[in-house]
Amino acid sequence: MGKIILTGDRPTGRLHIGHYVGSLRRRVELQNSGAFEKIFIMIADAQALTDNADNPEKVRQNIIEVALDYLSAGIDPAKSHILIQSQVAELTELTFYYMNLVTVQRLQRNPTVKAEIQMRGFNDAEGADNKAGTPVGFFCYPISQAADITAFKATTVPVGEDQEPMIEQTREIVRKFNATYGPVLVEPEILLPDNAACLRLPGTDGKAKMSKSLGNCIYLSDSAEEVAAKVRGMYTDPGHLQVSDPGKVEGNTVFTYLDAFCRPEHFVRFGDCFHGRKVSFDFKNLDEVKAQYRAGGLGDVMVKNFLTAVLNDTLEPIRRRRKELEQDIPYVYGVLREGTEIARAAAAETLAEVKRAMKINYFEEGALEELIAEQTQKYQNL
Ligand code: ATP
Ligand code: MG
Repeated sequence: MGKIILTGDRPTGRLHIGHYVGSLRRRVELQNSGAFEKIFIMIADAQALTDNADNPEKVRQNIIEVALDYLSAGIDPAKSHILIQSQVAELTELTFYYMNLVTVQRLQRNPTVKAEIQMRGFNDAEGADNKAGTPVGFFCYPISQAADITAFKATTVPVGEDQEPMIEQTREIVRKFNATYGPVLVEPEILLPDNAACLRLPGTDGKAKMSKSLGNCIYLSDSAEEVAAKVRGMYTDPGHLQVSDPGKVEGNTVFTYLDAFCRPEHFVRFGDCFHGRKVSFDFKNLDEVKAQYRAGGLGDVMVKNFLTAVLNDTLEPIRRRRKELEQDIPYVYGVLREGTEIARAAAAETLAEVKRAMKINYFEEGALEELIAEQTQKYQNL
């Protein structure tokens, strides 16, 4: 059997450059490699509702934003099916059966869920309003993610590092299911970015992860001016007070972004960012920039101007395509509808196999006759 991809994003906001380097850029490459039989890209609105139950409108509005970001970043509906999670009811049904294969204790150990519960303040919440505590749906989302992945028999899941515990949870569910009911489900492999800076891109505030929920993002759809302003306000090395001071590159977000985005050709095209009135440098690659920064004498402003040029170079074509697509909203919904229909048929096939393996397919053709024969015989033998 050929290789199948499933990935997705929560429609809780527009996509940011963390999504791009952590997953989206890779998806486009994989899509165009031709090495995959099927590619499903899911807009995880049902999952987004697990911590946005009081704000369904936010989720609804962001479905189109994420779809626009996908298409502008190069996802091609002729090669990849984009689907809306909530419209594939089979996923919810699978989740319900998988819930019996996972313990509460196991979910409580999931480091990503733990971190996200803390970030959202679910544990601190007090009082009787429905914001207090962790919603059960949110707590269980790793199980629903297992349903999403296995429904499409995905072999490959290209995601950021924060998703590692989810893939492990999925693999456990697959093994447990197959051992208990028979070999139906496929164990997926995670495909992490090969560039370390992209595993978990930090936020513009220097926090560990750029995340819609933290408001520290550079969005794919930000204008060139917005990108410049966000980069200007970025955290660098707090010890690098004077230009002449030696600077730190490690943990310096500006350099992390350069690690993620900078290519050798950028030095040819944007090298003049390092030409100043007082000092000028002719860097040929990022290592030379880092060496100079460490030694001292290279100011943050120059590095930031270069980063702005590099980011805008990557984002400009995406922005341009987005502007065009924004003028053709019916096309975008058409893509979503078609992708969802194809996904739904695939998920329905897996669900039927799952129910057959679990022997809860009572009224399926053939099964009913067998069941009647079995039970008739039981009573006749009494
Ligand atoms: P939310 O705050 O709503 O959880 P998010 O910004 O974490 O949003 P998700 O929709 O949860 O985004 O993540 C979608 C995909 O993007 C996942 O594969 C995730 O690993 C990846 N991703 C998200 N943020 C980053 C990041 N900062 N660096 C690398 N990959 C990321
Ligand atoms: Mg997230």
